[in-house]
Amino acid sequence: MGKKLSLTLLLVFCGSICSQAQTEQITIVLKGDHPLVVDEVSESPDGYWYKRGNVTTFLDRERVLRVDHPKPAEATTTPAPLVGSGKWMLADAQKIQDFFSAKFKKSLPLTAFGQSDLHTRWGLDHRNGMDVGLHPDSSEGRALIEFLRNQSIPFLAFRGPVPGVATGPHIHIGNRSPRVSGR
Ligand SMILES: [Zn+2]
Repeated sequence: MGKKLSLTLLLVFCGSICSQAQTEQITIVLKGDHPLVVDEVSESPDGYWYKRGNVTTFLDRERVLRVDHPKPAEATTTPAPLVGSGKWMLADAQKIQDFFSAKFKKSLPLTAFGQSDLHTRWGLDHRNGMDVGLHPDSSEGRALIEFLRNQSIPFLAFRGPVPGVATGPHIHIGNRSPRVSGR
C-alpha cells in the first residue's frame, strides 16, 4: 500500500518536472567506443568540449562520429544507453554473479569477461569490462541494473546494436572501455 502511494506521488511529481529535464541529455557518438551521454556540448575548430556534471572535457574531432541532440521522446528511435557510475574492478565480478544466481537460480549470462577478440578488433580496452547478455528492459536486466545502481557499480546498458560498440542489447559492467591508441 505504502509503496503504491509513494509511486503515485513520484509519478505526479515527475510528470510536472521530468519531461523537461529528461530531454536535455546530448549523446556524442564516438568512433569505436561507447557513446557518451553529456549535459552540454560546444563545438570548437578542432573538436568538441563536453560537460558532464562539473567536469568539462575536450574531445578531438576525429574521434567523434556525430553529436545527437535531444529530440522529443516520441521521435527517439535508438535510446541512449542507460548509464550508471561508480568505482569498479573486474575482481568485483563475483559479487554480481552471487547476487544474480541467488535471485534467479542460474548463473549470470556473460558474453564477455575481460578482453575478447571482438573488443580487440574494435580497438577497445575491455580488460576491466564484463558484458552480460541481458536486455536492459527484461526483468532480469532491470534487477541487475537496480543492483548495480545500489552498489555504485558503473555500467552501460544498451537496448540495441551500436556500430563498433555493441552487437546487440546487453549490459556492459565497468567503466567505459578506453580506446586503445592506434599504432
Ligand atoms: Zn562491454
